[in-house]
Amino acid sequence: MLSRKYSAYYHTMPDGTVKQTNPFSGIEVWSIPGRGKKPLLNGRPAESRPVMGQTHHPSCIFCPDQRLRIAPEKSRTALVEGRHETLYYLLPGQQTETVPEFRRVGNMFEIVTAAYWATNYGYRMPQTAEQWRDAYLADPAGAEHIDAIVRYKCAQSDPCGDAVEVRDAVADGFFGGCHDLIIGPRHYAERAEDDSQVCSSGELTPDEHFRYFAFTVDAMRDMLEMNPYIRYISVFQNWLNGAGASVDHLHKQVCALDEWGAAVTGKVETVLRDPNAFNELGVNLASQHNLVLARNDHAVAFVGIGHRYPTIEIHSAAPASRPFQHGRDELRGFSDLVHACHAALGGRRACNEEWFYTPVDAVYPMPWHIELKWRVNVQAGFEGGTGIHINPVLPTDFRDTIMERLSDLQNAGVIGDVTLVDGCMTGPNPLRYARR
Ligand SMILES: [Zn+2]
Repeated sequence: MLSRKYSAYYHTMPDGTVKQTNPFSGIEVWSIPGRGKKPLLNGRPAESRPVMGQTHHPSCIFCPDQRLRIAPEKSRTALVEGRHETLYYLLPGQQTETVPEFRRVGNMFEIVTAAYWATNYGYRMPQTAEQWRDAYLADPAGAEHIDAIVRYKCAQSDPCGDAVEVRDAVADGFFGGCHDLIIGPRHYAERAEDDSQVCSSGELTPDEHFRYFAFTVDAMRDMLEMNPYIRYISVFQNWLNGAGASVDHLHKQVCALDEWGAAVTGKVETVLRDPNAFNELGVNLASQHNLVLARNDHAVAFVGIGHRYPTIEIHSAAPASRPFQHGRDELRGFSDLVHACHAALGGRRACNEEWFYTPVDAVYPMPWHIELKWRVNVQAGFEGGTGIHINPVLPTDFRDTIMERLSDLQNAGVIGDVTLVDGCMTGPNPLRYARR
């Protein structure tokens, strides 16, 4: 291990100003006392309206009864004879045979399109997806569904015209594309009293959240088997409009890429120089500053240093460094900690969940980790002009608020396997990804 001065990344000045530098991105962040108050807890907004326990929204395209307005289901989780099963490549007549819990559908407005993979790499959808497409279109109800959403998509973006081959290519994207949505089970939280109580990640039960995670990881695995040109799969969740979501119904996005992107490349370069960097400059650094929140046998959560928004980082402690290489217990432990942190943040404020892990073709491992960014502030001209970012919440205030919430949630029995840490770990280097 290289020995570094931890004060270089986190320094409290005599007036209480905390200057932080993110060890991986180099971003400089200040938190100034009194500029932002302690983080706001999720109070009920004055303009909310009662919903009387209903869990669906009448016009939301991600609610299950609106399924004909989005792409067909590549897979779903559902209870089958009392067991949770994953069903693949559903045909029109099968959609009402079970009640879906989580659903995986193609994103109708992909960032990286099926045509991108086909034109630039010669990608062809695998035979199983082709057979599903042909069977779906052979059913009159299926053909009508696809025709309607192709017309909708063409009306929203560049005119497609009436050329059959163009419309077929658009339809192919719904069956064999590599940018999918993982859609949550309900619109409003169970027992919601008003329409601000939308079902966030933290409103799921720990069991549901685990199935949400496992189902998302299954989508990644499936995509990698389908498309040999993938080098990284970006997984993220934008929660509410303030975090970039266009629909206020819980969903993740799984988007395959042909490169790593700058953020992941920077992290891989860091572990190339220092294989233990995610312990040394992640958990150990946070622990030295009493910013560790919670842990279990499989993961650690702490207040991230040097982020533009108040951020919780959750790192898998497993030896495996990619989500789809984690065993069931490892995935469950990691899921429980991420779920607990979401529950502590609450569902009424915008939040981004971003996944990072060792790319498919990288040989320098970094741990699978997730950043939860609480979008309580808006970047402004000062940041653009100086390169110094103002995070309005002091890291220690953020820690205290989250610890208090975690403690309440634990007492209420609504979170899974989580041990509260309250600042400092008992020993260094809890992440096992670098041990060979
Ligand atoms: Zn909905």
